[in-house]
Amino acid sequence: NRDLDDFTYVVSHDLKEPLITIEGYSSIVQQEFAEKLDEEAVDYLRSIIQATERLKRLIDDLLTLSRVGRARHELEMVNTKDVVLAVVRDLEFTIRENHAVVEIPEHLPSVLYDATQLGLVFRNLISNGIKFNRNEIPVINISVEESTEHYVFCIKDNGIGIPDEYFEKIFVIFQRLHSAEVFPGTGAGLTIVKKIVERHGGKIWVESEVGRGTYFYFSVPRHLNSTVA
Ligand code: ADP
Repeated sequence: NRDLDDFTYVVSHDLKEPLITIEGYSSIVQQEFAEKLDEEAVDYLRSIIQATERLKRLIDDLLTLSRVGRARHELEMVNTKDVVLAVVRDLEFTIRENHAVVEIPEHLPSVLYDATQLGLVFRNLISNGIKFNRNEIPVINISVEESTEHYVFCIKDNGIGIPDEYFEKIFVIFQRLHSAEVFPGTGAGLTIVKKIVERHGGKIWVESEVGRGTYFYFSVPRHLNSTVA
């Protein structure tokens, strides 16, 4: 896995350079030669630029995924409530634009985690709950249950839901259930989230009902154990 992460990192990194060249020259042609081109050519150019932007996002996601696998863990006691509040602050614009409500319990525990990566987990799950939602008021509810061994966090939404047969598929890189025109995205978020959760010795799973909403659960071991890489 580590070899694969290193390989992905190097390839993605190297792919970015020629891509930036293509994007740069296409933009120059678009800006400086527009008058010399007919409508059809301008249209093709727009498609090239859009495709390079999408490819750049895909490469950035691959880089994030490989970074998560390569990074040494900076494990520390992290107050989950602080992490969730910081994520909600970052998403303030999206939350306001979608009239969304994020319900956060009074108390959330502290866990041994890489704080930045825990932020990525909550950010992805909360923003998906808002994005895949056609409710007038998207409601994202965060809760936690604890057993002697684990904390289990739950991020629940009142969105479009996910059919049972896709419960595994959604965690596979670049797998999406809708086209990017309907719901924007690359399909890498949940793969990154799963990798982070598993590297910290936890599991992630989903329960959902189409048209009613989705529950994402992820566990965090309460004690540092050998499964934490
Ligand atoms: P992205 O958000 O870029 O599409 P993700 O990896 O985060 O990628 O999610 C993969 C797919 O899983 C999404 O395209 C969507 O079809 C489905 N999905 C994820 N979260 C939710 C959710 N909260 N409600 C409904 N569908 C979801």
